[in-house]
Amino acid sequence: MTAPAPQVEDLNPHHIARKQFDLAAPFVGNLDDWDGISEWIFTPERTVTVYIPVVMDNGDVRVFRGFRVLHNDTRGPGKGGIRFHPQTDEDEVKALATWMSWKCAVVDIPFGGAKGGVECDPRALSVEEKRKITRRFIASLGDNIGPHTDIPAPDVYTDAQTMAWIYDTYSMMHPGQNNLAVVTGKPLDIGGIPGRSDATARGALMVTEHFLQIGGLPGQRDLQGTTVAIQGFGNAGRFAATLFRDSGATIVAVSDSRGGVYDPDGLDLAAVCAHKDETGSVVGAPNTQALEPKEVLEVPCHILIPAALENQITAENADRINCRLVVEAANGPVTPAADRILAERDIKVLPDILANAGGVVVSYFEWVQNLDNAQWEEHEVHEKLRRKMYRATEHVMTQRVNLAESFEYYQNRWSDLYPGSEPLVTPDMRIAAYTLAIERVRRAAEQRGVWP
Ligand code: NAD
Repeated sequence: MTAPAPQVEDLNPHHIARKQFDLAAPFVGNLDDWDGISEWIFTPERTVTVYIPVVMDNGDVRVFRGFRVLHNDTRGPGKGGIRFHPQTDEDEVKALATWMSWKCAVVDIPFGGAKGGVECDPRALSVEEKRKITRRFIASLGDNIGPHTDIPAPDVYTDAQTMAWIYDTYSMMHPGQNNLAVVTGKPLDIGGIPGRSDATARGALMVTEHFLQIGGLPGQRDLQGTTVAIQGFGNAGRFAATLFRDSGATIVAVSDSRGGVYDPDGLDLAAVCAHKDETGSVVGAPNTQALEPKEVLEVPCHILIPAALENQITAENADRINCRLVVEAANGPVTPAADRILAERDIKVLPDILANAGGVVVSYFEWVQNLDNAQWEEHEVHEKLRRKMYRATEHVMTQRVNLAESFEYYQNRWSDLYPGSEPLVTPDMRIAAYTLAIERVRRAAEQRGVWP
């Protein structure tokens, strides 16, 4: 007899988003009329695909594919970044848009979820080529984006410069009005807000600190004496390294797409940053041990921060993760199968829809600032961000405790309604965050009703 073939994990991000929703849904409110409503609030409202012709620097014309998905605007206009990446596709963008709906609901800001992506390799493009792709993408999307409908922001391989081009393109197409609120993450000179560039990392720091303060990790009340490893050294990962270091942690490993560097006694971050700026990678920074790209996930540390892409911690490597706490600065870095393995190993996970929400919270502040034609101070931004992140962390932790206490009730209710269905999974921080978010979106949907 041959051994059964090992099950291949489904890594399609949209299927993962569905799985996460389905794991949380049994814990949400009244289930009697749930089937239709759950389809309604899980299904994206709009998916736009555009084909973008661009004259490249060598005179050739190339066509790039771009997507913008509006997942749900029940609680407010769509909000979500635009990424430039060779592997982006419709299902990835749909998943990212869905996660944005839950994220905005968890931190309770008046936005729905959206996301965009252009299939291209920005590392192989000149600045001029990126500018043309951005402008043509935004022109092609037309009024699918707008200050009160769907508001883009930066994501992987896009930055404040990209946002400036987005603003300019939209403004050229809508002259004579204040268009600043059409996009967030802009440079300070054109309506950007102080504190947006490090907001994702700062939010992750605040969530982590508060989680420790209120007893999320027994025996560890703050970051003093902790060691941290970070995958990804862009906007989220690089700022996280500095901010966690400045709050008392020792950063032992960091990585980017080319590989990683490790020093169990603590990296000299200034030297690593200087090396990254000079060579384009952290690899080879002085006095460090080299790591293969994914090895950074397995170094011994207290806190692991995936800050690169989806599907980094899967069923394949979850049993080799060597930390007490995973803080998801990236979107979707831990798969549902890995969640279960980490839970069995008592490794806690602060889920993306909470841990990396600092970026969209400060984007919300920028949007408010732009609509008011106001200018906020950085200390106001930090203080308001802290309040949002602390409150959301407390809500998610309380929700987890409440769900765990009533677990038997939920389990019985579910098996009565759906006899023979899989047993429910014990609620972790992700399920707690999802139930909060889904409940909030559902409540808004029911209060508004189905139009007409
Ligand atoms: P970025 O483009 O600034 O940085 C991405 C980093 O990941 C780079 O250092 C790159 O080298 C690295 N990387 C790419 N592929 C890798 C791989 N296979 N292995 C290791 N490293 C790899 O992007 P970012 O804005 O920092 O986004 C990172 C993650 O954070 C994404 O999941 C994004 O959706 C999420 N996020 C970003 C924001 C934001 O405001 N920028 C907000 C919330 C969530």
